[in-house]
Amino acid sequence: MDFKLSEQQQELQDIARNFAQNEMVGVALSIEETGEPLSKEWLKKYSEMGFLGINVSHKYGGLGLSNLDALLVMEEFAKVSSAVAFPIFESCVGPVKAIEHFASEELKKKVIPEVCKGNIVVAVSMSEPNAGSALTDLTTKAEIKDDKIILNGTKRWCSGGGHSEGYVVYCKMTDDPGAKGIGAVYVEKDTPGLSFGQQEKLMGWSGIPSADIFFDNVEVPMGNIIVEANGGFQKLMEAFDLERCGNATMCLGQASGALEKALKYVQEREQFGKPIVEFQAVQMKLAEMAMKVEGSRLLIHRAAHNAQEGFPSIFESSVGKCFSNETAREVVASLMGGYGFNKEHPMERHYRDVWGWGIAGGTIDIQKINIASAMVGKRFDQRK
Ligand SMILES: Cc1cc2nc3c(=O)[nH]c(=O)nc-3n(C[C@H](O)[C@H](O)[C@H](O)COP(=O)(O)OP(=O)(O)OC[C@H]3O[C@@H](n4cnc5c(N)ncnc54)[C@H](O)[C@@H]3O)c2cc1C
Repeated sequence: MDFKLSEQQQELQDIARNFAQNEMVGVALSIEETGEPLSKEWLKKYSEMGFLGINVSHKYGGLGLSNLDALLVMEEFAKVSSAVAFPIFESCVGPVKAIEHFASEELKKKVIPEVCKGNIVVAVSMSEPNAGSALTDLTTKAEIKDDKIILNGTKRWCSGGGHSEGYVVYCKMTDDPGAKGIGAVYVEKDTPGLSFGQQEKLMGWSGIPSADIFFDNVEVPMGNIIVEANGGFQKLMEAFDLERCGNATMCLGQASGALEKALKYVQEREQFGKPIVEFQAVQMKLAEMAMKVEGSRLLIHRAAHNAQEGFPSIFESSVGKCFSNETAREVVASLMGGYGFNKEHPMERHYRDVWGWGIAGGTIDIQKINIASAMVGKRFDQRK
């Protein structure tokens, strides 16, 4: 066991930190004001730095580094904001990884290099109006007719919905009940029959648009199948174990960034004639914040490290996600007094943003059911 980052990893982390802190702080502020996602110009700059394919194979235009390397970069961007880290999340731990692992060679070559070049962003569309935690109740149908796939249904809460150029769509591909009938298909934004609802007005996540997606006889080629029914859902969930580590890292970055700011603040801010760090209650709180941030990082890195180039286990990724989601909700805005409640200060934005990460990718409660299931060694059927 070695808890030290390699020299190469430290270098990568420094590059990401310098880029995020020097270039992205002002961009994050303006995204917060306008609600516009990161521009194509910025995506190009990310691409030139290799940030859009850190752990993606060289074959498809990535850097070919590890999942852990991708998470190290993501933490540095998440310290600044969810919105500036989001394209890295989508390309390195999100739907693109499902394509890289499971899609046909033809689809991989079509989609992934474009993501790595910053030309397109790919989103994941799983949830539906009546299928949130009970994801396997989804009803969006993909029927095969004359060598084409025809999609019909409605999706909800898709982050990137209406903005992203491509969508990994979970759908029913057979009449088999529950998980068995579910597969996934890649759909391009401009496909006839595909339309989007109003942009949602969320409490946070400014710059990460969210919208319903409507499929009305949307026709895509057979080659767009990423995974088929009868086993496909299990593969998607394996890929999702990596996405959970990314979700956890979004929270870790915002919590570790908040801790850095709080550490500075408590040494500068004077009350009762001395810096507030001199008060024992503040010291205790600072230590508790550090313990939880360090714990989150170790749990996430363990999950990523143990997975190597594959996908983490459901137990380790869910433990990391839960702990980091809860840590971030506690740590951001702590010890900052009125400044943590002021829109002039990024802490207020982190406070709203981290709440969403504890819902996205499966709620904290649902993760805890996953953890208990893995511990006991049996699935707890929520329907019985
Ligand atoms: C910011 C944000 C981004 C998102 N991005 C995406 C995206 O990109 N793509 C996508 O497909 N989806 C996305 N989602 C949807 C997300 O995955 C769902 O919101 C989530 O799975 C919860 O589903 P729900 O909102 O329908 O809540 P519900 O399932 O209705 O749950 C409501 C409450 O009941 C609890 N609950 C439900 N069932 C149980 C149970 N069996 N035991 C204990 N408690 C239970 C939940 O924990 C929750 O507290 C996003 C959501 C948010 C908020």
